Amino acid sequence: MRILIWNENRHEQKNQKVREIYPKGIHGAICDFLTEAGHEVVTATLDEENHGLSDNLLNQTDVLIWWGHLAHDEVKDEWVDKIQQRVLQGMGLLILHSAHFSKIFKRLMGTSCDLKWREADDRERLWVIDPTHPITSGLGSYIELEKEEMYGEHFDIPTPDELLFVSWFEGGEVFRSGATYKRGRGKVFYFRPGHETYPTYYNDEIQTVIKNAVTWLKLTDTHQPSYGNHASIEKISKKD
Ligand code: ZN
Repeated sequence: MRILIWNENRHEQKNQKVREIYPKGIHGAICDFLTEAGHEVVTATLDEENHGLSDNLLNQTDVLIWWGHLAHDEVKDEWVDKIQQRVLQGMGLLILHSAHFSKIFKRLMGTSCDLKWREADDRERLWVIDPTHPITSGLGSYIELEKEEMYGEHFDIPTPDELLFVSWFEGGEVFRSGATYKRGRGKVFYFRPGHETYPTYYNDEIQTVIKNAVTWLKLTDTHQPSYGNHASIEKISKKD
């Protein structure tokens, strides 16, 4: 499986605290545990030429992981179009944390994807809502994170195809923090945790979810549908 991790990589450049937590960048931290899990992983960041993307790279990617926050608007529409096309063709897409506001997620959802937020070191408890789903395999009844940014309902997304996690926050809010969608032949998973000032992506259970997710997101060997005018399979009897 070929995985491409795309990270905006701006907080890491601007904020010493973030750099201390993620010395190789958020993309580097995710790359490490997915590589260790046996996947072929490459990374790309916003400030590289063409955001580190190319047609070839996208065409070879089974699952794209996307993290962004400060600079969603700097992602060129040309690449949003191309990523959308690849998802419709079957590329899996994992949208992490503040990428809820990325152009590609909003494009695929068709809603504002807005939410409530607060940075106040809330404790977060992600309750497993669907224990039958492959993405929740290996987890207990919840994942607890000592400190995280709060995201609260209402989260302006379409009703998920499957809701896998609901988060509770210490300050009283709840949030649909794990949601799956199908778009064309492609699968999409939104997973909430991962604010840049917390070491969330080093948490074993968060890593379990991401490892399960990339496996689930990869296109299986299903038939490629055809569209348009269609010759009859059976002989159609004359009605007159
Ligand atoms: Zn955040």
